[in-house]
Amino acid sequence: MQVIEKCVYQFSKDNTPVIHSEAGEVLVFNTMDCFSNTINTEEDLVLNMDYSVANPATGPVYIDGAEPGDVLAVDILDIQVADQGVICTSRGCGPLCDDMEDRTKVIKIHDQVADFNGVKIPIDPMVGVIGTAPDGEPVGDGFPGNHGGNMDSKVIRKGARVYFPVRVAGALLQMGDLHATMGDSELCGTGIEIKGEVTVKTSLIKNFELHWPVTETATHWYVNTSDHDFPTASKLASKELQRLICNAYGWDKTDAYLYMSIQSDMEINQACKPCHVELAIRFGTPKLPQFKPLIG
Ligand code: CA
Ligand code: ZN
Repeated sequence: MQVIEKCVYQFSKDNTPVIHSEAGEVLVFNTMDCFSNTINTEEDLVLNMDYSVANPATGPVYIDGAEPGDVLAVDILDIQVADQGVICTSRGCGPLCDDMEDRTKVIKIHDQVADFNGVKIPIDPMVGVIGTAPDGEPVGDGFPGNHGGNMDSKVIRKGARVYFPVRVAGALLQMGDLHATMGDSELCGTGIEIKGEVTVKTSLIKNFELHWPVTETATHWYVNTSDHDFPTASKLASKELQRLICNAYGWDKTDAYLYMSIQSDMEINQACKPCHVELAIRFGTPKLPQFKPLIG
């Protein structure tokens, strides 16, 4: 087991790996919150979120033997969060931002329960930012993309396995931006932002075609995509899920299309960003044990 603490603000093929790791090793990522732990009291306001320095991600870790064309699988074994997090408005972020006051709320957590104005909310920790390095231009940790990044999928919780395309040697895995809990769409731009640690185990699948990150849960497969508008993100997710279903189930494209229409749910991870990538979605389909898995 190795513990990683250093962080970077971009997913980049040029990042220097913090450590090298063999697939199968357990890794612990100590992560700062999305504000680099700078918002600690209700006097600390997020007036203007600078996406170039948002969401520090711990890593990257070089996975020995990972080569472009492979898939890196990351099992989320555990997520531990601190006993205090924050929810903040930030100007220009979220559909109601023009009418909202600047506000930070400190949220205390006791025995896995968060307290919002006396409402007790069981926490459901998730990893907001996780991914591998793109082979092209660097992508800031504030953005999602086909490398992963700021996908903000609330199903990336303990017990999930996330599959990433490997696009550079070593994959360069990094993660951060934990939320103690978050609603789909992340309406105001934050979940309960919190520092913590994520324990994962990696594995490699050699030579498997994958264009977007996929999350596997106990019951479902989810393709994660993102783009500037819903029709584009939706088309990208449908196409990738269709391709994976055709491969695994032996169906043609039209049957996969019809099947997705009756069994697959398209859900919005995040729709709050005032930037060129405005929508991160997940498109999920139930696991069917009579067929081979979509990946692997
Ligand atoms: Ca996030
Ligand atoms: Zn966050």
